[in-house]
Amino acid sequence: MERFEQEFLTKLDELVSIESVYHDAEATSEAPFGKGPAEALNCVLRWGEEDGMIVKNVDGYAGHIQLGEGRGEDAASVLVHLDVVPPGPGWTKAPFALTEEDGRLYGRGVLDNKGAAVAAYMALKQIKTEGVALKRPLRFIAGIDEERHWACMDHYFQEEPQPKTGFVPDADFPVITKEKGILDVEVTQPLFNIETSAPVFLQSLHSGERENMVPAAAEAELVMYDAAELERLYKLLEHMLAADQFKVEAHGSVLRLDVYGTPAHGAAPDLGDHAAVKLGQVLEQLPLDQAGLTFVQKLLAEWGDSTGRLLGVQKETSDAVLTVNAGVVRYDASTKQAKIVATVRAPAEVPLAELRAQLDTWAERRGMDLRVLDELPGHSLQSDHPLAQMLLDVYEGHTGERPAPLAIGGATYARVLKDGAAFGPLFPNRENTAHQADEWMYFKDLLLCTKMYEDVLQRLGQAENL
Ligand SMILES: [Zn+2]
Repeated sequence: MERFEQEFLTKLDELVSIESVYHDAEATSEAPFGKGPAEALNCVLRWGEEDGMIVKNVDGYAGHIQLGEGRGEDAASVLVHLDVVPPGPGWTKAPFALTEEDGRLYGRGVLDNKGAAVAAYMALKQIKTEGVALKRPLRFIAGIDEERHWACMDHYFQEEPQPKTGFVPDADFPVITKEKGILDVEVTQPLFNIETSAPVFLQSLHSGERENMVPAAAEAELVMYDAAELERLYKLLEHMLAADQFKVEAHGSVLRLDVYGTPAHGAAPDLGDHAAVKLGQVLEQLPLDQAGLTFVQKLLAEWGDSTGRLLGVQKETSDAVLTVNAGVVRYDASTKQAKIVATVRAPAEVPLAELRAQLDTWAERRGMDLRVLDELPGHSLQSDHPLAQMLLDVYEGHTGERPAPLAIGGATYARVLKDGAAFGPLFPNRENTAHQADEWMYFKDLLLCTKMYEDVLQRLGQAENL
C-alpha cells in the first residue's frame, strides 16, 4: 500500500477511536462538550502543528489549521466537524475502531464526518507538500458540537472572522446549494381523565432519545386484566408486524411491549421506520383508556406523519419537501405528562415565521404547549454562483459527470458562510449510513474525495473572484 494511503488510514483510525460524543457531565472550561470532542479537536490540531502549519484552538470550542500567510477574513475555508452521535444499537463491528473489510471502512464517524475531515486535512497537507503558491490563506476549521447545537461555531465566529468563501464536506455530491430551514420543537400535553379501569390502560410509552434521529425502538407498558384482550393484542401484532419487530413480556397484569423499527437521520425520516409510530398503530386498535387513545390517535399520529399533512404544515417546492421527525416520544400516566420532541425541516424558500405560525395554530387548536428549542434558517447559494460552478467543474473533472446541484434536509456548516456549499463526501447512489449502525464508506471513495478536495482548495487558494 502506498505511504499516502497508509497515513490516511492511520489518521482516520486515530480519530475514529476517540469517542467524541457529547457528554454534559464531563464538561469543563477546556472541554465545554466533554472529554471526547476535546480530544478529537486536539488530535487534529496536533497533526497540523506536526506538519508545520499554523494552528489555533479557540477555547476548546473549535479550532483551525491555516496554510499560508494572511488574514482570516481573506481565507478560503473548509469546515468539518469531529463530534459524532452515540453508536446506538445494532453494530456488528466495533463502533470506535476503524475496521477495513472488502474495501469498506467501518466505524462511527467514517461517513459523518471524520472520514471527510481526514480527506480535507490530507488535501491541505498535499498542497503544502507540493509547495503550491497561494494568493490567500486556506483555513481548515473544525467544530465539535455539530450534532447538537453548533455552540462550537457560535463561539468560534465570536473570536475569529468569517472566511469569505468555503465548502463543507458533510453531505452529498455533486454539490448542495440548498439546505432546508429547521425548527426543533417540544410539544407537551398534560393528561387528564386517566381511567385506570379501562380494558387496556396505557401506563407509559417511551421512544427515542434525540429529535434528529428516527427512533429504532419503542416500549409501552400496558395494564390489562382480561386474557381476551391479550389474545387480541397478539393477533394484532402478528398481523401488523414481522416476528422480529416486536417482543411481549407479561408480568402479572402488566405487559411490556417492545416494537422495533429502523433508525435513520431525522432529516430523512423516509429512510427509517419509526418504531413509536408503528407501536401507536397497534395500540389504537385496542380498547385503550381515553387519555392513552387520544395520545396515540392525535399527538403521536399527527407528529408521526413525516409529511406534516396531519399537522397542517405540508409544503413542497420544485426540489424539496417538508419533513417532520418525532425523535423523542414520552407518555407517562404516572406523571400525567405526554411529550414529543421533533425536528421540522422546510424547503429553504419557506419563511420559518410562517411555519412557526402554522404550528402555533395547531397547538392552540389541540390545547397543547409548543416550545421552539432551536431555529436554523435555510441556506441557499445560487446554482450559477461561481463557487457552485467551480465545485461542479471539479466534480466533473474527476468523475466525468455533471449532475444538477441538490437540495437537502440536513444542516451543514455551509450555513455559517455567506458563500458556501456542501460538497460530498457521499457519492450518488451510495448507501447513506450516517447516524446508523455499522456506518461505513468505501476507502476508494474517500481517496477520490481527497483528490477533489485538494483540487478545490488549490483553486480557492489561487482565485480572486470566488
Ligand atoms: Zn455531519
